[in-house]
Amino acid sequence: MDIFQQIIYNSRGDIMAKQIPLQQLRINENRIKLLNNMGIYCLKDLILHFPYRYDCIEATSLINNEKVIIEGVLIDEPKVFFKGRLSRLTFQILYQQEIYKVIIFNRHFLKKNMVKGMLLTIIGKYNNANNSITASDIRLKALKEITGITPIYSLKEGITQKSFQNYVMKALKFYQGHIQDEVPASLLIKHHLIHKELALNLIHFPCNNDDIEEALRYLKYEEFLKFQLTMQYIKLSRKKNIGVKKQFDQQILTQFINQLPFRLTPDQNAAVDEIINDLKKDTIMYRFIQGDVGSGKTVVGAIGLYANYLAGFQGAMMAPTEILASQHFKSLNILFKETGINLALLTGRLSNKEKQNIYQDLDSGKINIVVGTHALFQDKVSYQKLGLVITDEQHRFGVNQRKALKEKGQQVDFMVMSATPIPRTLAISLYGDMDVSTIKTMPTGRKQVITDVIKSHSMKPILNNLKKYLASGGQCYVVCPLVAESEVISSRDATSIYEGMKAYFKGNYEVGLLHGKMDDEVKEHIMEDFKNNQIQILVSTTVIEVGVDVSNANWMVIYNAERFGLSQLHQLRGRVGRGNEQGYCYLLSNSSSKEAIERLEFLKSCHDGFEVSYYDLKVRGPGDILGNQQSGLPSLIIGDIFKDINILEVSRKDAKELLESKSNDTVYLKLISEIEEQLINNNKYID
Ligand code: ADP
Ligand code: MG
Repeated sequence: MDIFQQIIYNSRGDIMAKQIPLQQLRINENRIKLLNNMGIYCLKDLILHFPYRYDCIEATSLINNEKVIIEGVLIDEPKVFFKGRLSRLTFQILYQQEIYKVIIFNRHFLKKNMVKGMLLTIIGKYNNANNSITASDIRLKALKEITGITPIYSLKEGITQKSFQNYVMKALKFYQGHIQDEVPASLLIKHHLIHKELALNLIHFPCNNDDIEEALRYLKYEEFLKFQLTMQYIKLSRKKNIGVKKQFDQQILTQFINQLPFRLTPDQNAAVDEIINDLKKDTIMYRFIQGDVGSGKTVVGAIGLYANYLAGFQGAMMAPTEILASQHFKSLNILFKETGINLALLTGRLSNKEKQNIYQDLDSGKINIVVGTHALFQDKVSYQKLGLVITDEQHRFGVNQRKALKEKGQQVDFMVMSATPIPRTLAISLYGDMDVSTIKTMPTGRKQVITDVIKSHSMKPILNNLKKYLASGGQCYVVCPLVAESEVISSRDATSIYEGMKAYFKGNYEVGLLHGKMDDEVKEHIMEDFKNNQIQILVSTTVIEVGVDVSNANWMVIYNAERFGLSQLHQLRGRVGRGNEQGYCYLLSNSSSKEAIERLEFLKSCHDGFEVSYYDLKVRGPGDILGNQQSGLPSLIIGDIFKDINILEVSRKDAKELLESKSNDTVYLKLISEIEEQLINNNKYID
């Protein structure tokens, strides 16, 4: 039970834990319905619905054209003018021995309560040309009566800020003196944290900024500590899960590695060693392999699959799209050419007959390694002896899908490859339930994509170069921004650019359009045409971000580049220069923001995905690095994994120490029992 629940007895006299319903506060039923619509059902929900910002009212000085808050004396009779349904209220005030005219729209009703000589607080914009203030708000009170900090909540229509504050106040009163800490006392002392009850009171009703700060410090720390305890608890319990020791002839594996057309980089070697060790252990592997685009993760995965095969197990590699799956299939086919491995590709596109054959051969064990899309974990598919599952670009897969595939075998080892590298400390914290291998060194001889920032909103400055490049037989990506929350707008942008280019290149080159609103089948078809050079210019939104290889496409032009995160731009440009040709990436931007151009210029000189993500993290903060598709991220209410990376790191160490100490602290024991309860209820974590 959590700290907000109360023990009650049901009619049979059994002890039950129960949340306190909103009815306890005597809120009327209509309001309760509205609150329910916001996901608020009990007092706990009210208390945990935090303000998203605070309004701060403080006197300002009068500066032309700026927001002002001043207190003045009303010195004349306010006048109201109507124009249709609109109204204008004007009056004069005396402020610091001078007279100012005040105008406010659509507040005619204020007039009846305004009395000459009263003190008013005016919030608005000052115009020194005619000594007037256009008010956005007028309070019929002295400034000192309203100064302070007001929490602002995100609410549904029908509930005012004031009434919501009132409910929260009542809810906090209900629990007064009874909200227990969820951070062990020793850690409260260590980090100088306030108690939970105080933190909850201050986050809703702070007197000043320090109050907010102190409240946030406790709440963020608690949230991260719980998160870290959960992740590490899962990891520890996985270790107990007895897996299968995979035994194989190390020499054969070494021979395989030696006959590859290139030497592994030191980081590839290290990752391979870690994987081999994991496979040999009787615990289940849960490994996260991160490396820049082109750092050579696929080969590392292939070596893992080969070892798993030598040990007598089947392997599966899952990709988010059919194109990527067939691309992996082709690479693996080349790598495994001499090995005798029976490799198959399973996608939704196969005929029923072909699918049936593959199902049969997976079930009988005739197929050793299968590459595919979601089709790999449909109910129909059963494996004879599945031992290793690799998923590529994990953020395109939901947790449940990965789990479904893993359940196809007993004690299957599991590996995830990600091309969005993040700093190692962050990766360890974030993927605390997995082990992390990082591939940082790039294979030698890899050409860096020549990147340039073009200060323009159109392609004009580079059009001639593009024509020359196309004339030499090359192909070009044109990427348009995905406007956050509005896929519609972005696809319209892509569409108009596509129309323009199509008209311009008519008769000379084929132009294709690709965006997220299209059917998967249509998308794959267009991508296929681009791959086969039936389309020379591909206009798209960021749907091409994931690792598709078209070695003849070595130009990329990105419109409104300032709208993308740097990591995303870096991933995008990784699409060109995949073969032996030099790749070029042009970042178009006519942004007037110096900072935006600086970010883009940074990308021009930096080609290391880790540095890029780190720069993003420092300059732009949250959200940009992993993109918004990241479904594996925990949903933190108050802490921010990127901005609060220090708290995250501290809490990780504290969680580790707590788990190792086998502490008897009651707060700690309660946390652990709650985590266990949660894991049982939410079996996505349980293997
Ligand atoms: P990633 O999946 O990390 O984006 P890939 O595994 O697709 O990268 O590798 C990109 C290319 O580099 C492939 O053509 C691969 O054969 C090649 N490659 C991988 N490792 C090396 C290496 N150590 N030396 C040279 N080339 C390599
Ligand atoms: Mg890859």
